[in-house]
Amino acid sequence: MRMRLMSVSLAALALAAAGQQTAAPVRLPAPEPAPALYALDGAFLQWPLPASGQAYADIDGRRLHRYVVEQAAIARRYRDSGHPQFWGRITGTSADAESADWLAAAFRRIGMADVRAQAIDLPPQWMPESWTITAASGATTLQLDRSAQPAYASPGTSRGGLDVEAVWAGTGSDADFAGRDVRGKAVFLFSMPLPGSMNNTSTADGGPKRAEANGAVAVFEIIALPGNMRNMLYPARVNIPVFSLGMEDGYAMRDLIAQAGDRPPRVRIRLNVRQVPDEKSALVWGTLPGATDETIYVMAHRDGWFDAATDNASGVATLVGLAEHFAKTPQARRRRTIVFVGLDGHHNDAGVGRTWMVAHKGELFAKTALAINAEHTSTIQTYVYGERIRSSNTYTAQLWYAGGPSRPKLQEIAIHAFREFGVPTYAEPEQAPPPGDLGRFYRFVPGVDAGDFNMYFHTDGETPETVPWTGLEASTRAYARIVDEVNKLPLSDLQRPEETAPTAPRP
Ligand SMILES: [Zn+2]
Repeated sequence: MRMRLMSVSLAALALAAAGQQTAAPVRLPAPEPAPALYALDGAFLQWPLPASGQAYADIDGRRLHRYVVEQAAIARRYRDSGHPQFWGRITGTSADAESADWLAAAFRRIGMADVRAQAIDLPPQWMPESWTITAASGATTLQLDRSAQPAYASPGTSRGGLDVEAVWAGTGSDADFAGRDVRGKAVFLFSMPLPGSMNNTSTADGGPKRAEANGAVAVFEIIALPGNMRNMLYPARVNIPVFSLGMEDGYAMRDLIAQAGDRPPRVRIRLNVRQVPDEKSALVWGTLPGATDETIYVMAHRDGWFDAATDNASGVATLVGLAEHFAKTPQARRRRTIVFVGLDGHHNDAGVGRTWMVAHKGELFAKTALAINAEHTSTIQTYVYGERIRSSNTYTAQLWYAGGPSRPKLQEIAIHAFREFGVPTYAEPEQAPPPGDLGRFYRFVPGVDAGDFNMYFHTDGETPETVPWTGLEASTRAYARIVDEVNKLPLSDLQRPEETAPTAPRP
């Protein structure tokens, strides 16, 4: 690529030297790939089952992947029954109820004990019922709601909507706002798609906060990823409407602003939001009784946006896979009782179920040796190259946490298990669990959590195709191994007084 770049530049220089005008700046051709020579689905690299791991051969990634597909189908049924814009396995909706039924049915099929859905009362739930966004300049009108998606908990507009000037604000930093009049306008800025920075919206010094502080009336965050994905952002915690915007729509808007000169485009925004009271969700419980009343927990949140295939159909599939595996062991040979729980979730900015569990930690976790949080257990390796996201035939390395420095034996077990079954990890564990549900439990429960955040995170591109079955197999086998190894340790090696450990990142 470098050679090609140089040769194009040299050609331009040669033309210029010869006194010829190049018509436009030389634009490098994007490095377009040749057509695919194989289908990824049939070509994912599978970690061979080691001789030491034959006891885990029954954990079959292809079967687990079917569970991802089935959960995505729940989300799509919800979308196709009158919710074309804001859809997924949204907490409190019919998709949530269907997901709870699906998991309880899986637990019953497996033959678990005490299968039940514990009803949870939800606070009023944010529900964006519809939105339309157009931008116009001269004869050009852009339909931005092809990709625009309101950030979670964004306020709506009045029925009449907004009709305001558009203004460009770069990456939304202080430097971008310096000297720029955004008062009464809709601000467009670029945002990176990574956790934390993507949540420009959730950090106190993010672009939306600056836009609001400078008097803007709406914010659009263009997600800097090729394509035109819909992207759900976490709450911006501002009092003006905030939307994400796909990159194609974002570029089109940038060009419209550039071409309009001193007569900026007008943006029309209408967002109809309702707070829906009295909805319910559920903690879905199932138990594999063991030889003692000591416990191991496996949890996974059931909710998610769009197909929510990685986040968190993958984790739920891992949870079901672990239940299937350990159900085959006779009760007398399961040292500890294994409690499985499908959480209502946290994308609704509440996490009511886990809050209930934390409030009951005394009774739930008094004899707990391990809590596995299965969250984002397989995600495809991608890279932005040229004008597109390229997908490879493997799964990504995971951020991980295994009990922290006060539980060296648990960390050791996790490192060996991840290595044995081919779960790529970073050499350094996280000081607190990766963003997810374990963050609420790890201070008082020995917790293990490994997961990754990919480019499709929280977008409508997060389909089952972005969850390699090979990664599901690797992660689930590793977790099963961790359970077995932990069962060789006494509680005293694992339990600690509640720790004041570093704060876990959102959510
Ligand atoms: Zn998640």
